[in-house]
Amino acid sequence: MSNDHNSGQTIQFELDGHQVEGRAGETIWQVAKRQGTEIPHLCYSPEPEYRPDGNCRACMVEIEGERVLAASCKRTPSVGMKVKSASQRAVAAQKMVMELLVADQPARETSHDPDSKFWHWAEKTGVTESRFPATERWHADTSHPAMRVNLDACIQCGLCVRACREVQVNDVIGMAYRSHGSKIVFDFDDPMGESTCVACGECVQACPTGALMPAVMLDDKQTRVTWPDRKVDSLCPYCGVGCQVTYEVKDEKVIYAEGRDGPANHNRLCVKGRFGFDYIHHPNRLTKPLVRLPGVKKDANDQVDPANPYTHFREASWEEALDLAAAGLKKIRDEKGAKALAGFGSAKGSNEEAYLFQKLVRTGFGSNNVDHCTRLCHASSVAALFEGLSSGAVSAPFSAAADAEVIWVIGANPTVNHPVAATFIKNAAKRGAKLYVMDPRRQSLSRHATQHLAFKPGSDVAMLNAMIHTIITEGLTDEQYIAGYTEGYDELKAKIQEFTPERMSPICGIPAETLREVARAYARAKSSIIFWGMGISQHVHGTDNARCLIALALITGQVGRPGTGLHPLRGQNNVQGASDAGLIPMFLPDYQPVGRDDMRGAFEKLWGQELDPVRGLTVVEIMNAIHAGEIHGMYVEGENPAMSDPDLQHARQALAKLDHLVVQDLFVTETAFHADVILPASAFAEKSGSFTNTDRRVQLAREVIKPPGDARQDLWIIQEIAKRMGLPWNYAGPGEVFTEMAQLMPSLKNITWERLVREGAVTYPVDDPDKPGNEIIFTTGFPTESGRGKIVPAKVIPPDELPDDEYPMVLSTGRVLEHWHTGSMTRRAQVLDQIEPEAVAFMTPKDMRKKGLAPGDFIRLETRRGAVEVKVRADRDVPENMVFMPFCYAEAAANLLTNPALDPFGKIPEFKFCAVRAEKIDIRTAAE
Ligand code: SF4
Repeated sequence: MSNDHNSGQTIQFELDGHQVEGRAGETIWQVAKRQGTEIPHLCYSPEPEYRPDGNCRACMVEIEGERVLAASCKRTPSVGMKVKSASQRAVAAQKMVMELLVADQPARETSHDPDSKFWHWAEKTGVTESRFPATERWHADTSHPAMRVNLDACIQCGLCVRACREVQVNDVIGMAYRSHGSKIVFDFDDPMGESTCVACGECVQACPTGALMPAVMLDDKQTRVTWPDRKVDSLCPYCGVGCQVTYEVKDEKVIYAEGRDGPANHNRLCVKGRFGFDYIHHPNRLTKPLVRLPGVKKDANDQVDPANPYTHFREASWEEALDLAAAGLKKIRDEKGAKALAGFGSAKGSNEEAYLFQKLVRTGFGSNNVDHCTRLCHASSVAALFEGLSSGAVSAPFSAAADAEVIWVIGANPTVNHPVAATFIKNAAKRGAKLYVMDPRRQSLSRHATQHLAFKPGSDVAMLNAMIHTIITEGLTDEQYIAGYTEGYDELKAKIQEFTPERMSPICGIPAETLREVARAYARAKSSIIFWGMGISQHVHGTDNARCLIALALITGQVGRPGTGLHPLRGQNNVQGASDAGLIPMFLPDYQPVGRDDMRGAFEKLWGQELDPVRGLTVVEIMNAIHAGEIHGMYVEGENPAMSDPDLQHARQALAKLDHLVVQDLFVTETAFHADVILPASAFAEKSGSFTNTDRRVQLAREVIKPPGDARQDLWIIQEIAKRMGLPWNYAGPGEVFTEMAQLMPSLKNITWERLVREGAVTYPVDDPDKPGNEIIFTTGFPTESGRGKIVPAKVIPPDELPDDEYPMVLSTGRVLEHWHTGSMTRRAQVLDQIEPEAVAFMTPKDMRKKGLAPGDFIRLETRRGAVEVKVRADRDVPENMVFMPFCYAEAAANLLTNPALDPFGKIPEFKFCAVRAEKIDIRTAAE
């Protein structure tokens, strides 16, 4: 009999003599588990839940009336079925499976992981020894810096294959060979370290036997030697995906990181999150405050010596360092005025740190000269989103890809920059969603795509306008949505006439018919979602690029429903939160314009002083103001403008020119090297606080270990500077700061610190203290004054600096998978640095042949602003006439080359395009 309950279809059947109820889709194993009956299982992973495969046969159960036993992990019950999980036959089968598998395992005492799931079940079933002869042993594969492959412990359950192919969709691991010789292989049976493995570690997390293990846990014999003293739940410190992590700690050192079931990651991690945690224990970590030695001049050309980074400094007590730091800032404020100071906060710090930092600049320094790295990543996206929708955040989480019929990924490379988000996009493509990747460079996501549109660099608006033209002229718009929820459509309709696919095709390099096809697919689908990255935003026409995407969504009504939306993939772990908290020169927290008297008034009331109504300067403007003699002192918390700013020489000269520079960081970074006072701060794993991911999820990070030596919490340091600047602050901890923030930030309505502690993650906006947050917004209009989304047409504007005879190629910059941002953390993480140890630039083999270059040769890259010498790597994903360079390498800093020309709205520099010359050089020249 089957009943239609609220929970859906249910099935009554008998399990071990008791009547039980199975829910729709549940397997016998799952029902048994819910009833408190555990059935042995090895190839099945309930948490995280992988597709059951039923190959190990450890979960066999007896079903009355059936001749053979059934694998309970796969078999669903039927009405009236009588299942016995512990009958003599079932138990004998379960034990036999274990005994056969034990035969091939190293003995438990010498096994790679005596605590593995395999030995847990061997013990539980009472089968830890075997009567059967052992078979051939395999040699350990120690070729990968992060993981070991011990095939002698492999039971061929296939969990690693599913982890690699179905969960993370990297397609590296497979089963190969036949019979006795069958085994898991990497690519074409390559050593793991030489395969295309991206080291996400999902296979290690899934392996039930210790056949795949993190190298850090093993000794020379590949036997596990480290067990944690304790485990602490926190978050990953790197990208905006916001993966939830459990850190394992031994002797007050983090020894391993495992993914946990957070709403953003569902146990998944990437190489950075799983293996990049040990930078916090790096020997160069700052453990004492430092002050510049008297007489040591600041020189923009001077470089930090990684072997001896402290040459220009001496140690100081906290009292001395804080007094010096604050006195220098105060002197400038009092003598030269509030606008002679500026501050850069950090998108790596917590929401509470960001809030206090901007409050310090606004109330202690006295101006709005506060900014952070959002200016360098998504400022133009935020400008366009604000202009059109009055909200700078995403309209739907990246997991909305699961409900999308069509997915666009444009100007983004998520498998490198947001790897766990990319896995959900790949899952969707495997499920059948049409994926369109649009970027001048191809990428690993391209092979999952219905189509990759490799448009010409900098021609985004031409391509997108042609698509808008198609949608409008072919009547594919959603007229009802346009009439009900938008404004500005008629202007767009008039202006778009000139952007026919035929006219735009030569500009963007995509055939007119392809432009039409992709536009039709987007508009006609029941649900289409757009993900974009810095390929859209880091242009002088970045705001226009984003305007086109917003227009596309608005004219087709592809927003505000499941599987639809606009999602700028946010870069750093807390760039969303830092922006929300007001680390922006034109906005107070929650994007309340500094010039709006009514909004500023609420802050003045709570903060107890008048605030500057004039917008402050942005990152690049601050550097220019230093050169112009307008800014004389700065406080930089956790940012590294001496690596991340465009035209670095200009930025470094500015930093060196400052009368007083205070830097708060973990290491003597390229920026700290120019400081007068360096304050040793806390790393991510050493602090508690809230962080907001790209999906608008406010998540709680917990202190895992204490900061080393005399390093201190950032929240404490900011407060100590504030007190010395005359502010009467005394926040007991992040909870108290969050409570103040929530009073001033409508976005945090119904989110309290206590709720965060209780739930771990809450997505804003939230309608009620007891309700979960709204993952999808704009369901019934927009928070604009009219309630309508504003469509803003965009013109085709070329990049600022086009190639010419002198500089004939295009330089584009970005990231590599293993290194994050300016590399200050990842290049000090052992595994990550081992995988990608040296500076490289990428070029297509065709261009390399033309220049007589072989992989590994050195080239000199020169632009109008500077030159670097770097190894070249062949990469077929890079289009002809382009050089791609990651900006994380201090020894060949890509930003010495980049163009500081700004988008007029977002004030973001054009990192993605400048003219460059590339020449082969003799290797000795480069080494000298
Ligand atoms: Fe960390 Fe981002 Fe990787 Fe997740 S995807 S583990 S948040 S770097």
